[in-house]
Amino acid sequence: MDVVTAHEPAWPRGLCVGCGQVWPCEPAVAELVDEHGTGLPLAAALWAMFDQAAQAVPTAPALALYEQCIRRPLRYVARLTAGAGR
Ligand SMILES: [Zn+2]
Repeated sequence: MDVVTAHEPAWPRGLCVGCGQVWPCEPAVAELVDEHGTGLPLAAALWAMFDQAAQAVPTAPALALYEQCIRRPLRYVARLTAGAGR
């Protein structure tokens, strides 16, 4: 399967292969919200990403990975949902 523009993380740098932004980029977060909504399933998906990242980059500081994979996307989602008003 060729998915040329997929927004996927490239570890160990933690950048998106689709657009080169810090993972998860805004399109990737939007896709996760589409798929999981903004509640617990989304949090579970972010934790799964965090787990993947921790395994891909065992030397990375857990706190930095947590910030990148969970806190940062959740802040973005909070902004999204505040703006959308739903
Ligand atoms: Zn991207």
